[in-house]
Amino acid sequence: MASYDVIIIGAGPGGYVCAIRCAQLGLKTAVVEGRDTLGGTCLNVGCIPSKALLHATHSLHEAQHNFAAMGLKGKAPSVDWPAMKAYKTDVVGQNTKGIEFLFKKNKVDWIKGWASIPEPGKVQVGEEVHDAKNIVIASGSEASSLPGVNVDEKVVITSTGALELGKIPKKLVVIGAGVIGLEMGSVYARLGAEVTVVEFLDEITPGMDKDVQKTFQRILKKQGLNFVMGAAVQKVDATKTKAKVTYKLRKDDSEHMLDADTVLVATGRKPFINGLGLDKIGVAMTERGQIATDARWATNVAGIYAIGDVIEGPMLAHKAEDEGMAVAEVLAGKASHVNYGVIPGVIYTAPEVASVGATEQQLKDEGRAYKVGKFSFMGNARAKAVFQGEGFVKLLADKDTDRLLGAHIIGPAAGDMIHEICVAMEFGAAAQDVAMTCHAHPTYSEAVREAALACGDGAIHA
Ligand SMILES: Cc1cc2nc3c(=O)[nH]c(=O)nc-3n(C[C@H](O)[C@H](O)[C@H](O)COP(=O)(O)OP(=O)(O)OC[C@H]3O[C@@H](n4cnc5c(N)ncnc54)[C@H](O)[C@@H]3O)c2cc1C
Repeated sequence: MASYDVIIIGAGPGGYVCAIRCAQLGLKTAVVEGRDTLGGTCLNVGCIPSKALLHATHSLHEAQHNFAAMGLKGKAPSVDWPAMKAYKTDVVGQNTKGIEFLFKKNKVDWIKGWASIPEPGKVQVGEEVHDAKNIVIASGSEASSLPGVNVDEKVVITSTGALELGKIPKKLVVIGAGVIGLEMGSVYARLGAEVTVVEFLDEITPGMDKDVQKTFQRILKKQGLNFVMGAAVQKVDATKTKAKVTYKLRKDDSEHMLDADTVLVATGRKPFINGLGLDKIGVAMTERGQIATDARWATNVAGIYAIGDVIEGPMLAHKAEDEGMAVAEVLAGKASHVNYGVIPGVIYTAPEVASVGATEQQLKDEGRAYKVGKFSFMGNARAKAVFQGEGFVKLLADKDTDRLLGAHIIGPAAGDMIHEICVAMEFGAAAQDVAMTCHAHPTYSEAVREAALACGDGAIHA
């Protein structure tokens, strides 16, 4: 029963980053994690395994569709699904062990087990109660389902089941056209499944820039994904091997049915606070079931903080990490800050989709005078060379000051390129600053510069 400056509950990207920073800042730190491995949702059943499967299946797609065009002849590879899952598991293992190494290196104690907070300043794990001057809750989130849909993780699955399916389904119905649904839908479409995405709204990826939504859906359709839009799922009837999805179209209330071998419920995630005992100690919650925090991630109970998916804001690993670092600085008595206006969002399909800052719709709604600089990857030599000429970079800048307000990219390596604009926005840069920065040729990033040029006197290769 040790005594700590900080005990963090949960070793996801929020918790483990917070722990490392706390230790670096000289605080005696422990993390309680109930899973057998560190890294939380992200490393175990989220970002990392999904990206491994996206990489493997994208490589398959390249071999099937683009190798011959580059003069690479021969039999296209066949899929050994257990071996592909083993590769994914190995990638996860390398990453989770990496966090264990970092904990040892930084002298962060890992207390194994599930934590509760019997009273402020105390963390209970099993029979043991540890003292903590400060407690940071980083307990993350879990998949949420719909009324009338019972998840069994075999036929009706969440993203966790989608990473471990026994076999590749012939027919997959994905409920929800958000990031997770489209990434996992892409994986299985590339593996040969007939994929139908059923979405309640009329657009995919809610909240994204409308231009991106349209182009992205068109590209995904070309890749073989089917979409049923404006459809409210009523129920899923499942047997041991099959399911029927019943939905109503919102436009005319007509009822329809889809057959599937597997149904992926990808309708979002909800904060995970089970077993923490927050109600007993009076931690205030938001209406949406998140832990309520102030601008310094403090809850209403002195000495208890919360970060990551369990509080409000986008459920993203890097947002959780930023909050983890920032709250560590708060606890060490330093100044800290997270700029919520510059948190990028990325979808790791092919092409990738990335965005930061305001969408055009948001600027319209705010009544802000803005200009648009847009550049198609068709004018980018490098993108064309790798069969990725579809998509564009769209920059939004203030009409009068030219200050960058948002960026929306659909194209190759969009998830990496977006950071040029993130840095520019952090520095309050104008589109012209990006336009006047020399960009190496031939790179995809030249498309960002061209879009910035389009905010001024015009792009060159348009
Ligand atoms: C399929 C999928 C793909 C994703 N892809 C991306 C992506 O590409 N990029 C991205 O930014 N985000 C992605 N996300 C979201 C990302 O995983 C989360 O935003 C991120 O993991 C949140 O971090 P966190 O630290 O808040 O919580 P989590 O990662 O959820 O970690 C919380 C940890 O706390 C532990 N815990 C909970 N309660 C207790 C307790 N009482 N005692 C002890 N331990 C406890 C849990 O076991 C868990 O390990 C994806 C999510 C999914 C499901």
